[in-house]
Order: sequence, then C-alpha cells, then structure tokens
Amino acid sequence: MKIEYSNNLKSIPPYAFAEISRKKKALREKGKDLVDLGIGDPDLPTPKGIVSAMSDAINDSSTHRYPMDAGRPDFRQAWADWCKKRFGISISASDVQATLGSKEGLCNLARAFVNPGDKVLVPDPGYPGYANGACLLSGGIPVKMPLLEENGYLPDLSAINASDAKDAKLMYINYPNNPTGAVADKAFYSDVVDFAEENEVIIVSDLPYSEIYFDKKNKPISFLEVPGAMDVGIELHSFSKTYNMTGWRLGSAYGNPEIVAALSKVKENIDSGVFEAVQMAGIYALTNYPEAPALDEYNKRMDTLVAAFNDIGIEAKKPPATFYLWAKVPAGETSASFVNKVMEAANVVLTPGTAFGEYGEGYFRASITSPSERIIEAAERIRNLK
Ligand SMILES: *Cc1c(COP(=O)(O)O)cnc(C)c1O
Repeated sequence: MKIEYSNNLKSIPPYAFAEISRKKKALREKGKDLVDLGIGDPDLPTPKGIVSAMSDAINDSSTHRYPMDAGRPDFRQAWADWCKKRFGISISASDVQATLGSKEGLCNLARAFVNPGDKVLVPDPGYPGYANGACLLSGGIPVKMPLLEENGYLPDLSAINASDAKDAKLMYINYPNNPTGAVADKAFYSDVVDFAEENEVIIVSDLPYSEIYFDKKNKPISFLEVPGAMDVGIELHSFSKTYNMTGWRLGSAYGNPEIVAALSKVKENIDSGVFEAVQMAGIYALTNYPEAPALDEYNKRMDTLVAAFNDIGIEAKKPPATFYLWAKVPAGETSASFVNKVMEAANVVLTPGTAFGEYGEGYFRASITSPSERIIEAAERIRNLK
C-alpha cells in the first residue's frame, strides 16, 4: 500500500536539528568527547523536594485515574496565586488550563483558531513550534516577523503588511526570547495590544523563560500585565525550564477566558489532561521555590561563557534572560560553516542561527546547559582553532 501523508504534515520542513544530531552521533561513535552547548534542556536534575512530592502523590491511588480535563482545582488555583504574586495579574482559577508543557498548548491552540489558508504571524528567528507544530499542522500559512538586532529583537509591528495583518488569526510572541535572549517591556506589549485590537489578531505569549533572568531587581514581565492584554490574548507557561522538569510535561495556559476555553475544548477531544500526580508535584514546585533553583548557577555559567567567548574574539553581550547566548559568527563565516567547523575541529556543539529561520543567518546560539568547566573547555578548544 502506498502511504500518503496529509498535505499539512508534508508541508513541515525537515527537522532543523536532525543534521546536527546525525553529526553528533557520528563523532561520538568515533569516541570523540563532545562539549554540547547546543541543547535547550537543563542538565541539572529536578530538585529533590519536587521528586519527593511526586513520590508521595503517585503513592496516593486517587491520582491514578483519568485526570479532570482542565486540571485539578488546586493546581489551577496554585497557578492563579503564583501569577498574582509574580506578575500582579488577577486570573481566576477557572481560566487556567493545565497543559502537557507549553509546546502542547501552543500547538493545540492553533487547531482552535486556524482554518486552512489562514495566516499566522511568527517570529524569525524563532522557536520552530510556532510555524510548524502550530501553524502548518493546522493548515495555516506562517508569515514571518523578522527579529532584528537593531530593534532589540522585537518585531517591527508597523512593518507587517496590511493584508497579512488583516488575514492573520494568531500572533506568537516569546519574551524572554529563544534564541536571542531578548526581553520585552510594557511599551512593546502595549503596541502589541493595539495591533491585536486593530487587526483582530489573537496574541499567544509563550513565556517559558520568565524565571531564567540575570537581574533579580528587573525581572521579565508577563504580556498580561499591560492594559487590554486580557481581551486579546493568552499566555503559555511551563515548569520545564524553571524547575528542570522538561521530561515531566507540565505547563499552564491562562488569560482570556474564551481563548482558554477553546484550548480546553481541543484538549478534551485529544488528550485527557495531565497526570494528577504530576500536577501535585507542580503545586509543590510553585509553592516552595520562590525562584528557579538553578538561577545562581546559570548566572555564573553565563558570565563564564560570555567572558570565554569575548576572550577569543567572539563579540557577545550577556543577555538579560534565558539560558542562551546569541552571537555573531566570525567574519567570513556563515552560520552553517562556523558551526560545522567548530563541531568537527573542536568537537563543540553549537546551534546555527538558521535552525531558527532565515533571519538567524550570521548568528549562532550557545546554551549554558553544561557545567562551567565544560564551557571553559569549549572556549579553549575554539580558541585553538583560530
Ligand atoms: C522549551 C521551549 C518550549 C517548550 O517547553 P515545554 O513546556 O517543555 O513544552 C516552548 N517555547 C519555547 C520558546 C521554548 O524554548
């Protein structure tokens, strides 16, 4: 039988990281010691307290049945309380939906709003989930909003052409930003609210990095903090990056009640919610860790990475947030040529900017999800290349 994929599935380009994974595997098979600064997955374990809370919860057999679709009431209340404390925003627990991480929420949300041929505004460079898992898999057409260094990696809303703006159903924004490390301020978010109202575009704010910041007196904000945002948008958060819980699959969606309800309806028809023991571990995390447990370690590592790269002549500034350093490749190189050279000759894994879209050309991303000694080792190896 001829197996024919749907047009939506066929429209998704090959996974940008597949080529890198292949090369990594080949080098490891040759016995090479790779320093991997390529991945966006915390290397530190989930804190013991959260693991113990999970252990208690899983020993309680009441957690073993199908979860309530939208999430446990105590989980949703804990999320609403956390948002009040952290961002000063008032959300009712009934307008919170537990998700299987932010990726699931942002992808399933598109099923609720995108008809075939509808446009979706996505950042470039950007997390590939917006254009692929969300937009293309729902039959939409991604329209790129370039994130340029000279604009602080914020999209220029006035540069979006009028017909794209009118035809767009959703706009994805993500600050603190993967891959650039940029943050957004209230002035930008207010402009986004105006744009959304004018063009009737739903705003999806993907916020998994709000707790990975380097200036404790100037923390990243939520989109929902600005007036009008609750009318036009939804925010997606995650336990993955804050609490080193990527494997657990826990996140939350909150904001405009009608938009949250649409996501809930999609989820009711696809998954049956988040394992309740995981939600209970999530409540423990929210109520016991006033900041990301790895924050001070990340701060040290980022200083080490920036200093080491500057030392070998790579221009890079410490970002305000995220565990990524976004930097220009040396003159005369492309993203791919530099990343390949560093991988093959220095056995250091970086991510080419082009893995996040065409506007990532000329840049690479290095993550601090390896210990400081390994980061220094990586910089030394790159220095010896030159
Ligand atoms: C890691 C990441 C996600 C996915 O997080 P999960 O909650 O683990 O699904 C979503 N968006 C961005 C920008 C990310 O970097």
